[in-house]
Amino acid sequence: MKRRKFIQSASLTGLGVVSGAAIACKENTSEMPSEKNAVTTISPKTKIPMVIATWNVAKSTEKAWEVLQEGKSALDAIEQGCMVEEANAEGQSVGLGGLPDRDGNVTLDACVMNKEGNYGAVVCMQNIVHPISVARKVMENTPHVILAGKGAEAFAVSEGFKRENLLTEASKKAWEEWKKTSKYKPIINIENHDTIGMLAIDKNGDISGGCTTSGLAYKMAGRVGDSPIIGSGLFIDNEVGGATATGLGEEVLKTVGSFLIVELMRQGKSPQEACEEAIGRIVKKSPNFEDFQVGYIAVNKKGETGAYSIHDGFYTTTYQNDKNESKKPDFYNKK
Ligand code: ASP
Repeated sequence: MKRRKFIQSASLTGLGVVSGAAIACKENTSEMPSEKNAVTTISPKTKIPMVIATWNVAKSTEKAWEVLQEGKSALDAIEQGCMVEEANAEGQSVGLGGLPDRDGNVTLDACVMNKEGNYGAVVCMQNIVHPISVARKVMENTPHVILAGKGAEAFAVSEGFKRENLLTEASKKAWEEWKKTSKYKPIINIENHDTIGMLAIDKNGDISGGCTTSGLAYKMAGRVGDSPIIGSGLFIDNEVGGATATGLGEEVLKTVGSFLIVELMRQGKSPQEACEEAIGRIVKKSPNFEDFQVGYIAVNKKGETGAYSIHDGFYTTTYQNDKNESKKPDFYNKK
């Protein structure tokens, strides 16, 4: 095996690059002198385990990281990481305290996808704080992949989840204020924090993902966005990588954005190139792209990440190599 290829596959399997290099030298002694230099310049750090999420959600990625450090699965990390933000009453775009629809009802969308390509989702579900966990139960305990509305809520209760009022005083006030004009306009970068899309790779190198949201503020009753829809708000293929989205769900749905990104990575694009192409697809098809935001994040099997959005103001949080970092990705609309 050629050395460069070997190093690639070493990081693919999560082997430390330094030990990989040592084995490579043994295999091909004629390459040893130049390889010595190469070994000293390559970081010994592996890129996994790791977790990446949309927006500034350091507490969520920290929780996910802790779970990964315990040797648990990427799916466990995703669920527990997302739960942190769902329970945060101050966040007005996910779980408890989410901004309601036009009628004042908080309706939640969420999904998970695991290393086997299994998927579970709840859409337009009310009164349950942790839709991400209910989505996981749909995947694991039912013969279906999506449960909606009252059915999803009844299923959650049958699984032991408690009904709670999700409309906080702050979100109720915001809705009452909105009702004065009732002007519906998707807001770009709402409160610098939005749908939580999360991708993780565990110590075994297996990938899972999750996505959870209260959807667009003041949406029509019954509206479902991209976040709980496989291929749009989230897609995982454990052989290739994963992708997830935030922003105007209608646009992500029309271009099946997360599936597109994973398929582009399968064809050899880096996560960054794939995210940029998926944003490019939306921009090309939607002449009014200046009026809405979409942001994508992606990770490949090696733990390399990418992120891109239409407009400035999108953030990501990555916990990798012992560092929990907020990053500001590049974006399309530089005008
Ligand atoms: N993508 C979500 C939706 O369309 C909302 C968001 O991320 O802002 O429901």
